Amino acid sequence: MLIIMRKDSTSEQCHGVEEAIRRMGFTPLRVPGADRTAVCITGNKGPVDSSLLSQMPGVLECIPVTKPYKLVSREVHPEDTVLDVAGVRIGGPEVTLIAGPCSVETESRTLEVARRVKEGGAHMFRAGAFKPRTSPYSFQGLGEEGLVTLRRVREDTGLPVVTEVIDTDSAEAVAESVDVLQVGARNMQNFSLLKKLAELGKPVLLKRGIAATVDEWLMAAEYLLAGGNHRVALCERGVRTFNNHSRNTLDLNVVPLVRDLSHLPVLVDPSHGVGVRERVRPLARAALAAGAHGLLMEVHTHPETSYSDAGQTIDVETFRGIVRDAELLRTLEPL
Ligand code: PEP
Ligand code: MN
Repeated sequence: MLIIMRKDSTSEQCHGVEEAIRRMGFTPLRVPGADRTAVCITGNKGPVDSSLLSQMPGVLECIPVTKPYKLVSREVHPEDTVLDVAGVRIGGPEVTLIAGPCSVETESRTLEVARRVKEGGAHMFRAGAFKPRTSPYSFQGLGEEGLVTLRRVREDTGLPVVTEVIDTDSAEAVAESVDVLQVGARNMQNFSLLKKLAELGKPVLLKRGIAATVDEWLMAAEYLLAGGNHRVALCERGVRTFNNHSRNTLDLNVVPLVRDLSHLPVLVDPSHGVGVRERVRPLARAALAAGAHGLLMEVHTHPETSYSDAGQTIDVETFRGIVRDAELLRTLEPL
């Protein structure tokens, strides 16, 4: 249930509504809006009787919310969320292109890639310092040293930087070094990590879990918003299916669906979605045509020698091709 307050309502009236919700045994959550305040009821198992609340001073109307997630839903927040990350927007009419190697590498190689993707048209740089790897014997990332390099990249190129945060222990150090915290597929339902990132308040890029339903993914995002962090973007990166012709199955169904269900921006990572370099560009095109707000791509000046995910990493020339595709696709009618 969403209680919409009148435009001329006072903050005492809003507090009165919150108190009444508490007396009913539920938890109120204030939802700031562009031109009106709303209070969302959380903690209810079934429908809530709105007869008392709708009579209270300052209340305009009571709208039932049909979804288990509240703050991420379009029912509660009809306007698109647009994140502003150091001047780069995610979720507006322009697509946001985020590029970089899978892992942070040596400082000189990482800076070289960052400079080249910037020249090529990237809006943000992304590389992992802490890598969640399937095998304990695979390269685990440069850790703290990688964070130093990411700070250098930001100073040198001015590009906002995205990197993955894999646990609560390293979250603060990672948050101090970059502009956006990526939650990887393996951690989508790491609820203690989500609660920590809600507290830190830095923008979060929340990847979809390897076998997560859309409801589970949006509920994971709800943890961030319910904890007070509204700066969240979603990222589809493919799910596990029976197929063995690609690393994952990029589920582009979710792009129009999630745009309908939620006000949060939705990006697509075709690199992990397909896992094969030659097929990244076609899927990047498809993602943009389906309405993705942006793309996350693994790009390298020397893809074959990437420290991780070499087989799906595209070269700068291919990235430039995707930038041209994005320019052309802008001319499509908005969906
Ligand atoms: C990555 O972005 O390099 C990564 C590990 O992605 P995912 O969590 O989608 O597997
Ligand atoms: Mn990767």
